[in-house]
This record gives sequence, C-alpha cells and structure tokens, in this order.
Amino acid sequence: MSDQNPSKHTKSHGRKTMRPTLKPRELMTHQPDLARAWQAQVITLFPGAFPGVLGESLTGKAHKEGKWQLSTVDLRIFGEGKHRNVDDTPAGGGAGMVMRPDVMGHAIEHALRRAPGPLVYLSPRGKRFDQQMARDWAELPGITMICGRFEGVDQRVLDHYNIAEVSLGDFVLTGGEIAAQAMLDATVRLLPGVLGNAESTVDESHSDGLLEHPQYTRPADWEGHEIPPVLMSGHHGKIAEWRREKSEELTQQRRPDLWAKHKDQE
Ligand code: SAH
Repeated sequence: MSDQNPSKHTKSHGRKTMRPTLKPRELMTHQPDLARAWQAQVITLFPGAFPGVLGESLTGKAHKEGKWQLSTVDLRIFGEGKHRNVDDTPAGGGAGMVMRPDVMGHAIEHALRRAPGPLVYLSPRGKRFDQQMARDWAELPGITMICGRFEGVDQRVLDHYNIAEVSLGDFVLTGGEIAAQAMLDATVRLLPGVLGNAESTVDESHSDGLLEHPQYTRPADWEGHEIPPVLMSGHHGKIAEWRREKSEELTQQRRPDLWAKHKDQE
C-alpha cells in the first residue's frame, strides 16, 4: 500500500518510544490485487467487533471479492505502561474517563501511514450521517474511522488532526463501533458492483429525497390482505405512477422535513 501520509499529519511528537512491531489485524483473506479496493480502516479498542455484520450478505461477499478492504488498528497496542492504559480521568473533574491524546495520536500516525482517505471521529456531537455523506465517501479511496469509548477523545487530538466528527443520530452509544459498521454498510453498498442490481440504489428511500413506496411479494392473498391490484396489473406506467404517489404520500406524512426540502428543489 502506498504511504499517503499528508504532511499536515506528520508533526513530530518529540518523544520516541519503542513500540512492538505493529501488525494491525488484517481482516481480508489474501487478495492478489487490492490496490484499487475501497479501504476502510477503523481505530478501535475492540477489533474483535469487526467485520461483525459487515462480513455477512452483500457487504461480506463484496469484501471477499476484494471490492473493499477492512483493517482495524487495535488502540490497546498503543496504550501506556504495563497495563497499556488508553484513558485517564477528565481534566476539571467529573464522571468517567477520557481517551488519552498521546495514545490516540500514535494510533492515528500509524493508521495514516497505512491507508488513504480522510479521518473521521464517530461522535454524537458530529454532523449527522446521511445518504449524501455515504455517496461522498463511496467516491473517496477510503476512510479511517476513530471509535471512541468512555467519555470520548481528548479534544486536542481532534483539533491537531482537524478530524471531522460524524454522528449516527441523536442518541448516545457506548462506543463508536456500531456507528462505524452502520456507516460503512451504507457506504460500501454504494460501491460499484456491490449490489447485484444497480437499479436498487436508484429508487430506494433517500436516493431522491423521498421515502420509498411500500413493497409487496407473494402470496397474493395473505390472511385476507391482498396486494394492491395495480401492482398485479402488469401496466408499468401505472405501477410507476402508483409508487411515486405512495412515496410522496409517505414522505409528507412521516417526514415533513424531507418533504419541504424536496418541494424546494423542484
Ligand atoms: N461524552 C460523550 C459521549 C461519549 S459515548 C458526549 O456526551 O458527547 C462514547 C463513544 O461512543 C463516543 O466517543 C463515540 O465514539 C461513540 N458514540 C456515541 N454515540 C454516538 C453517535 N450517536 N454517533 C456516533 N458515535 C457515537
């Protein structure tokens, strides 16, 4: 892998410590040509949580086929002292622990030497992740994600590396790992060739600012509930029109915010 360490990230830390040879967990089985694969890298205290659900189904298949690559950087390896400490009490007092900037800094330096793409910190204070962000990320060569734990990461490390904060939603998780997997799933499925049917990302919820229409499949009659007859009519024009109407109806009812935006763009 090429060393794409941008100069702004190479500031010396002034202190050199001997560290073990670092072999971040490679989650890929051997692939001869991964040079062009989309690269996801995750800095975490819980590398065993990966690939997790990303190893299943379409994302798992694409992973095995080398369409994207996943590696983790085990933060614990960079911990200080006999116990490899990664956290300490908050300056100014208060509950919980804060992730140390020196430990995180070493992990980040290591990660930046290995993979291209921007650094993001998963955080409930961040910009809300959405479909557009997934699309933007899918255009990049890859991304490096930092999963926090405890009360989060020392602010200085976020400022020093100018790290963007991204949130999965307005709630608080115990760690960034689930958020990382959710965001990687949403991004990886947009990479070329990951979904079997390229059409399936065109019509779905959030692709055009609307929620998707309801879906039905056989049996035609289930417990006395029938599939809307128009869907059984074979009339493609009418089906498309019905779907559009339902999509607009649902969006108006459930997401007035999306509906207003959609109207503005028309
Ligand atoms: N004290 C922090 C919350 C820390 S939760 C605060 O009040 O803002 C511990 C870690 O979980 C965070 O560092 C972050 O990496 C992750 N996390 C929690 N909620 C998240 C969310 N909504 N989106 C993304 N990551 C989240």
